[in-house]
Amino acid sequence: MPSHLVCFNSSCRAQYPITDVLYNCPKCGGLLEASAPEALDPARLKPLWRERRMSNAPLDQSGVWRYRELLPFDGQFEHVVTIREGNTPLLASPRAAAYGGLRAVTFKHQGFNPTGSFKDNGMTCGASQGRRLGMKRVACVSTGNTSASMAAYAAQAGMQAIIFLPHGNISYGKLAQALEYGAKTLQVEANFDQILKLVRVLAEQLGIYLLNSVNPFRIEGQKTIMAEMLDQRDWHVPDWVVVPGGNLGNVSAFGKALRELQAAGFIDRLPRLAVIQAEGSAPFEAFMHTPTHDSFPTVDHPETLATAIKIGDPVSWPKAWNEVATSGGLVEKVTEQEIADAKAVVGASGIGCEPASAATLAGIRKLTASGRMPPDADVVAILTGNVLKDPDYIYRYHTGGLTAHSGPIKGAFENAPIVVPNDPQKIAALLA
Ligand SMILES: *Cc1c(COP(=O)(O)O)cnc(C)c1O
Repeated sequence: MPSHLVCFNSSCRAQYPITDVLYNCPKCGGLLEASAPEALDPARLKPLWRERRMSNAPLDQSGVWRYRELLPFDGQFEHVVTIREGNTPLLASPRAAAYGGLRAVTFKHQGFNPTGSFKDNGMTCGASQGRRLGMKRVACVSTGNTSASMAAYAAQAGMQAIIFLPHGNISYGKLAQALEYGAKTLQVEANFDQILKLVRVLAEQLGIYLLNSVNPFRIEGQKTIMAEMLDQRDWHVPDWVVVPGGNLGNVSAFGKALRELQAAGFIDRLPRLAVIQAEGSAPFEAFMHTPTHDSFPTVDHPETLATAIKIGDPVSWPKAWNEVATSGGLVEKVTEQEIADAKAVVGASGIGCEPASAATLAGIRKLTASGRMPPDADVVAILTGNVLKDPDYIYRYHTGGLTAHSGPIKGAFENAPIVVPNDPQKIAALLA
């Protein structure tokens, strides 16, 4: 059966053609997902996927399209737009492990992507679907990285990018990317959640293709982060995968990928998924701790300096809930201070990441301290964005000028630049 869209709502499960332009189920309003791939043969695909790493063909060089059997394109790849996304490394860090209370930790660093975040893994798939549908314009609302990514892919694909950003709440690195890649950029005086509602209306009215993570093709592309991680580990399943949670698309993609790979026999068990949120923007964490789970406690005014996860009404929470529950995972929240210090530790390891990414290490430290994650656990933490995305945050942290909604941050690992006179003796004395 060819790929199709399915309503995620277990009491509906209505099906639609894969080329329908839908973001929610027309019958029940539920989230949509792509049908699971069929007839995957691990004995054939594991060596084939490995072999493609040696190929010079663009599709094979992409760390997303190399795993194209997992994606709902049914052998039709002529519309694919790729900037060789994915191909991100697994990096060990003894220093971060010690800080996190673990014997070892591995970072899967999605900041190595062409526009510097994991959004590229999903965007290549979403933009390719836009092209397959013959779309001329694409739009998104973004805390920054989605717009940077969409702008680049739209430019590559010859589509116009229209970006909606919360005015004054986005890091300069990300805004700069959107401008440089030529996107029409609108700064709206509202927060992410409010703008998403606005953009959905506009997309419908103007026939613009919406590339937020409510778009099921974004989720499909992000599945390959798990496939690539497992391929890089020779299919050894870690005990935990730790990921920051904002709109909750990434954890939804990871869970779907892992379930599909398990069903096809690539792996024999699931890693536990740990989602880490920032304390001022943690509705999913609050939801998971409600006894009955009957309503979702959205946060009207989310706060955090980790702007990539500053989301109070995450679209994908029903999917994320399913994935956390199925994997025996958990959800935790961390403070602004904990994020900032964990980020400095990732940086001091020579790795570096943006603030939202560091929620992973801060979360790990909390989970080991409370005994929920044993010190010898095999842990892969996802660093979602590049260190250069938010240089302002870094400078302020290291010079003692970083202030969150919760109060000033104390730079426990402060490393301020030192102004010196043009005098070799004085500098030598300073360095002695
Ligand atoms: C988008 C983003 C997140 C949040 O991911 P969700 O899928 O929205 O939960 C985390 N970190 C970075 C750097 C991001 O760009």
